Amino acid sequence: MPELPEVETTRRLIHDQIVDRTITDVLVTRDRMLRRQERPADFRSRLSGRRIIGTSRLGKRLHILLGGDLVWLVHLGMSGRLSTADRTSKAPPHTHVRVGLDDGSEIRFTDPRTFGYTMVVTQDELDELTTMGPDAWTDPPTADELGARLERRTAPIKALLLDQTIVAGVGNIYADETLFAAGIDPRRAGGTLTESDIDSLLAALRRVLEAGIEAGGTTLSDMAYLLPDGRSGEFVTELAVYGREEEPCPRCGDLIRRDVIRGRSTFWSPTCQR
Ligand SMILES: [Zn+2]
Repeated sequence: MPELPEVETTRRLIHDQIVDRTITDVLVTRDRMLRRQERPADFRSRLSGRRIIGTSRLGKRLHILLGGDLVWLVHLGMSGRLSTADRTSKAPPHTHVRVGLDDGSEIRFTDPRTFGYTMVVTQDELDELTTMGPDAWTDPPTADELGARLERRTAPIKALLLDQTIVAGVGNIYADETLFAAGIDPRRAGGTLTESDIDSLLAALRRVLEAGIEAGGTTLSDMAYLLPDGRSGEFVTELAVYGREEEPCPRCGDLIRRDVIRGRSTFWSPTCQR
């Protein structure tokens, strides 16, 4: 699933292509993509004729900012991808939403598994539907704030890192890489982390997300995530533990283990992570 580095990479690459363009037309060929829009008819009417004034991101959610105080929200789900192309070129299979721009290009939302969704909301509506915690990259919590959120929590730290209400944007890949980089056992109860553990965790999170963004995100063998220009994200070559069950740990050489924690595969080094 695209996580923060993948969505941030997507945002950066489409930003220059779409900002200052005006939307001319909207084609939705799969209504399911609008299932979170309260009134699906709003999707087209709110987009048509609007000027795109900027982009932003919160966690795994991409925001395309429009004139009239509207926000076009895109969540890529498990396998979604956003791209721009000349509208006369052939769209990839599973392209469900096409938004034409005044320079002859279009924005395409492609999603084979259709777990992604899109909607256009007012800024007030956006505030109402946002239950996420601070963004892990642009607005990371301080050690004190994170400590307060983890205090007395008995859930494993792996599960708490995936909880978007604590910190937004981290998914399975970057949670495992962060816990490895911080040397923290993913099964530990959140409330048992010391101040020094929390400092290490936040520093590791910063490093791992930065490296992920610099590499253009992670494209796994399923090719579910690709950059808007069709390239693969190269962070897969830098993964220390994720997907590497039974391979030697790059730090200690002992075998990397896979456990299922709260239903999610978790890759870690029992020797390096305490
Ligand atoms: Zn190790």
